[in-house]
Amino acid sequence: MDATRPPATTTDSGIPAESDEYSLTVGPSGPTVLHDHYLVQKMQHFNRERVPERVVHAKGSGAHGFFEVTEDVTWFTRASFLAEPRKRTPVFARFSTVAGEQGSADTVRDPRGFALKFYTDEGNFDMVGNNTPVFFVRDATKFQDFIHSQKRQPDTGLRSNDMQWDFWTLSPESAHQVMVLMSDRGTPRSYRTMNGYSSHTYSTVNAKGERFWVKYHFKTTQGIENFTDAEAKSMASEDPDFHRRDLFTAISMGQAPEWRLEMQVMAFEEAAGYRFNPFDLTKVWPHGDYAPIAVGRLVLDRNPSNFFAEVEQAGFSPANLVPGTGLSPDRMLMGRVFSYHDTHLHRIGPNYEQLPINAPRLEVHSYNKDAAMAYRHAGSQPVYAPNSYGGPEADPARAGTVAWTVQSGELVRSAYEKHSEDDDFGQAGTMYRTVMSDSDRDHLVANIVGHASDNVSEPIQMRVVAYWASVDPELGARVAAGLSLDTGNDAYLQAAKLVESRSNRA
Ligand code: NDP
Repeated sequence: MDATRPPATTTDSGIPAESDEYSLTVGPSGPTVLHDHYLVQKMQHFNRERVPERVVHAKGSGAHGFFEVTEDVTWFTRASFLAEPRKRTPVFARFSTVAGEQGSADTVRDPRGFALKFYTDEGNFDMVGNNTPVFFVRDATKFQDFIHSQKRQPDTGLRSNDMQWDFWTLSPESAHQVMVLMSDRGTPRSYRTMNGYSSHTYSTVNAKGERFWVKYHFKTTQGIENFTDAEAKSMASEDPDFHRRDLFTAISMGQAPEWRLEMQVMAFEEAAGYRFNPFDLTKVWPHGDYAPIAVGRLVLDRNPSNFFAEVEQAGFSPANLVPGTGLSPDRMLMGRVFSYHDTHLHRIGPNYEQLPINAPRLEVHSYNKDAAMAYRHAGSQPVYAPNSYGGPEADPARAGTVAWTVQSGELVRSAYEKHSEDDDFGQAGTMYRTVMSDSDRDHLVANIVGHASDNVSEPIQMRVVAYWASVDPELGARVAAGLSLDTGNDAYLQAAKLVESRSNRA
């Protein structure tokens, strides 16, 4: 074989192909024959090239790297990948927008997904977070409706700001997240210049069995950088793949982006009396209450070599928690624990976890078997447990799960129990008044007014004003002025009453 020449083309069965140029025909002008199986298989495979697009987070980019522990955090977790300073664990990260489809522009106003898969020596640990510390809703039953309101209308196939504000103002628990979305953090300059948050509260347990509630914050060491609304819009047309290009280029030039993992840690017993419900996904734990603790660093230093195999087929799930880490009673988290695995079963197939990008870097000893595209299997291992023939046996001591006490009671459909300072608008108000600079506030108002001026009906604009006035009266007045709305009438009073009645302040 001549090593200077490229390899010979083959079929997918490895049989040498006759031609890359011509199909098999009856003479130069005659019909193409059906038994040109090379041509037929090329067409068949091409027709099946796409797996279903993710319903959310469809447009994304990914990179490989590692996580390195920098501090001793064994006082709050026995997780092996956090066991000692300098320990490194391979990681794959995927960043994304939420609402747009695969071909949509990267720089649109949207939260950004921040999903991490740690290939630990105790199985895969996934942190499937966002670039914001909170979310729009706090109960999994509202998630599907929320996403529908952000996607396309059934008749026109168009997105609708009216639909978005209708949902948000009827769901005032969204105010905190919508404030972040409408601030310049809603248009990050690049994936490298944004933070990632678990958003949810999770739990940990240490070697002594002591339990903690925790939040993960990945802080960019590149520094936060955002686009203004105008810059983001202009980049959407100039280079719709700007974030994908930026990440790939930086890594290929040796500028590996880095994040510092800081965690907030709460003693288990403090949750019940805390001033905010610590499991409410629409709230943060103020840093003054729980100061973030340095844990380690995340570095992304290797681009994918095949976008489809690595970025598109990656499947993350918040259910993937390793010994020493656990869930919490957050209702959105409970829903996602089911939903993420389920969507990958549908999108990729029942054996998606066998694909190299998703497979753990250790032996799997599971009683799940067969199904489409099974590649790894357990050989002649018994197919049931318990068995008398040497099959794997569960070891609760190795599992290291975190349990919490649940009071028994009636089955109900109700709001969370209110903690003393729970209020749908409170934390957003704090952010507006004490965290934002004057120019942050100016941009926020301009972004809200611009968005709510674009095909939003007047009754819903009235609610938009009432919603922001509930966060902060001055903010409400500035939005009303920007929308040229008179708030001294009955229509506004009715709108304000409606927003209030839908909030937990009512
Ligand atoms: P702090 O002053 O200690 O922290 C405020 C945090 O707000 C900062 O650390 C930063 O989070 C984030 N932040 C700063 N500027 C902006 C901005 N322009 N847009 C969005 N976020 C910004 O205050 P508290 O912890 O007491 O929280 C006060 C308010 O800050 C909260 O009600 C919440 O709205 C907001 N916030 C709080 C966070 C938390 O986890 N405690 C996280 C993010 C926002 P970071 O360092 O993560 O970038």
